[in-house]
Amino acid sequence: MIRKLIQALLIGNIWLGGMMPEKEMPSKDPAVDYLVLVNRTHKLPDGWEEQIELVEAENIYGETFLLEKETFEHFVELRQAVLEKGLDIELESTYRTVEEQQTIWDEWTELLGKDYVEAYVAVPGYSEHHTGLAIDVCLDIDGQRFNMNDQLLTMTEQFEIMNEELAENGFILRFPKEKEEITGYHYEPWHIRYVGKEAAIEMDKQDLTLEEYLDEVEERD
Ligand SMILES: [Zn+2]
Repeated sequence: MIRKLIQALLIGNIWLGGMMPEKEMPSKDPAVDYLVLVNRTHKLPDGWEEQIELVEAENIYGETFLLEKETFEHFVELRQAVLEKGLDIELESTYRTVEEQQTIWDEWTELLGKDYVEAYVAVPGYSEHHTGLAIDVCLDIDGQRFNMNDQLLTMTEQFEIMNEELAENGFILRFPKEKEEITGYHYEPWHIRYVGKEAAIEMDKQDLTLEEYLDEVEERD
């Protein structure tokens, strides 16, 4: 417990002191479309990488990651809220370039075969991780890191704690259960996506995926 608290304090210091803007609180960058849709049929928009500001973040294992700035700031708050409920969510995978996705695709194909990769891994250029707005988390429980997909899929109780805090912090669970046909992906309890608080709360309330929400917004306008 004490170790956890010290870790939280240390990370709080590094993140909040070292990376938050010094003068003013973060404001929404109008240039960034936080509702951008990247999935199996929607490619990363051209010029996306020039629109976002990436910042560096560190997990408790000392690994560093790149994330879109506002996404990072809200993840810090989400992590803290979840930590207060006794669960430690840590960064496992965040922003990836198209080249990095290609490497993952090739490595996983070799390890796990084409069928698995087609079900779980996005084609380079079509991964939400290219946006900088998506995060795969791992769980740290009593000093043990849980980051294998098969393990995480069984940890329903733990992810329930995280899910309760997502919307309020501007995140959605991007590939929920029973929405595979819509998202194109199997259930992934570890993959969260920043969309901003207002949209996240609405999606949560109405039990909508990003695809469904965007359709609804379009119909409304
Ligand atoms: Zn992911």
